[in-house]
Amino acid sequence: MKVSKITRLLPFLMLAALLLGGILGKVAASYPEELSGFVAVSGWVGAAFLNILKMVIGPLILSSIITGVAGMGSASNLGRIGGKTIGLFLGTTVVAIVLGLFLVNIIKPGIGVNLLADPSANEVVVENLVAEQQNVGEILMDAIPSNITKAFVEDNMLQIIVFAILFGLFTTKIGHEQSKKILDFFSAVFHVMMKLTSAIIKLTPIGILGITVEQVARQGDVGALVSSLLLFLVTVFAGILIHFFVIIPLLLKSFGVKPYRHMKNMSLPLLTAFSTASSSATLPLSMDAVENKSGISNKITSFVLPLGATINMNGTALFECVSVIFLAQAYGVELTMLQQIIVVLTSLLAAVGAAGIPMAGFVMMTVILSAVGLPLDGIGLIMSVNFLPDMARTATNVWGDCAVAAIVAKTEGEKLNV
Ligand code: ASP
Repeated sequence: MKVSKITRLLPFLMLAALLLGGILGKVAASYPEELSGFVAVSGWVGAAFLNILKMVIGPLILSSIITGVAGMGSASNLGRIGGKTIGLFLGTTVVAIVLGLFLVNIIKPGIGVNLLADPSANEVVVENLVAEQQNVGEILMDAIPSNITKAFVEDNMLQIIVFAILFGLFTTKIGHEQSKKILDFFSAVFHVMMKLTSAIIKLTPIGILGITVEQVARQGDVGALVSSLLLFLVTVFAGILIHFFVIIPLLLKSFGVKPYRHMKNMSLPLLTAFSTASSSATLPLSMDAVENKSGISNKITSFVLPLGATINMNGTALFECVSVIFLAQAYGVELTMLQQIIVVLTSLLAAVGAAGIPMAGFVMMTVILSAVGLPLDGIGLIMSVNFLPDMARTATNVWGDCAVAAIVAKTEGEKLNV
């Protein structure tokens, strides 16, 4: 089979891998002893795939932002594109939060749930969360790296981005002869990373199969948990589906972008986001699809997507807001108008601060709970089903980034394939 044919078939192979992985994982959960070796090997395959994707991210973000920012030519270009990008990120995130707020107040999934029936069951979770808790100031301060190598060691994307933007900006301020050397170098690094990404893309079905088998086998029977939190999950998923299939497409349409064609072009990164629950790990694939399938320029792709994967999390923000109000309802606490506004604002901040890795949004929930003075107990029950919304919110996060890239490109007068 020719390579291009494989590439065209990839979304179908990915779907098949997800389904097959689900089935095999369920079978493995039923025969835990006999099939433990199979689950372990699947886990290794999945971890190897994720590691190779993660390996690309640091150099990719650094080289793409430096070339992107320096390539914008002037600080005013950067200011304009940066302003639009951040404005769209914040706007879409606030819309997602308000949608979540609306749904959770209408559906009221927490009324009648007594999460505090057995607080001791949640002690360990709460202790761990308290240890990881950051306050609002720390989230903001954390964006400034004191040591750039440490940022790489700790995979702190936001710090790498801040450094790369400054480096790119000041590259334009030195003489042409010098700045050309820097641009040539980082643009070559960028192209190597993208070539590597194209090779990794062909492995996605195998990687996803491994991840899914292991996850499903490990989760075992979630039926009982899901039913006790069914209404909560219905609220989260209703919000995510409306945002994903209605709100973002309407926004794209209003800027003259064909939403569903763009979505189809993004099928590989979206399915990867769904199955890995990590928007950072998906970044190399979304950059490839946005540029090569939807035809958005490298200049915009390489600025908007790395930034988006780090700070633009529509799905996470919606989840945060719904979860916190759900918990308030379950505690029997009536939140005042001011407290609800605080929930909206801190959900925005928590989503910006959440890393693009599995569970990150869940951990950030503690910021909001503390901001409105709610206890952290009870959060453990949400954790037991967190993986389901995590997959869906990550796909929504990535879709939001790809949509903003298309809108910014369109408003910059680019000719797109969508
Ligand atoms: N897993 C999400 C992401 O990578 C973050 C979250 O936990 O909400 O985008």
